Amino acid sequence: MTNCIFCKIRDGEIPSKFVYEDDYCFAINDINPKAKKHILVIPKAHVESLNHVEDSLLIANLFEAIKKINKQENITHFKTHINTGASAGQEVMHLHIHILAN
Ligand code: AMP
Ligand code: ZN
Repeated sequence: MTNCIFCKIRDGEIPSKFVYEDDYCFAINDINPKAKKHILVIPKAHVESLNHVEDSLLIANLFEAIKKINKQENITHFKTHINTGASAGQEVMHLHIHILAN
């Protein structure tokens, strides 16, 4: 998707360090962290928001990735957060799950 910041990061057009990657998703540190650890888990496919998910297996894959990321990052206590829609605070219109840990 042109002009999507997360698609550009996925494609290496915007430099960013992946803290995790698998066939379905990648994860990066949030540029503006709202907790000591603030990681974004982003599907590789451009899906605009939770409202646009057609196959719920994607969500299962993302949460399996979260478990692996947390193990890797030594995160045991955390919040997950998904903003859906602009008026609910979604700024980047490419589905992502926030992991927040202090
Ligand atoms: P949301 O408000 O749920 O759409 O969250 C978007 C998040 O993406 C915000 O927490 C931003 O700080 C973060 N963000 C935006 N651009 C970048 C970037 N280039 N690298 C890492 N995080 C970003
Ligand atoms: Zn995208």
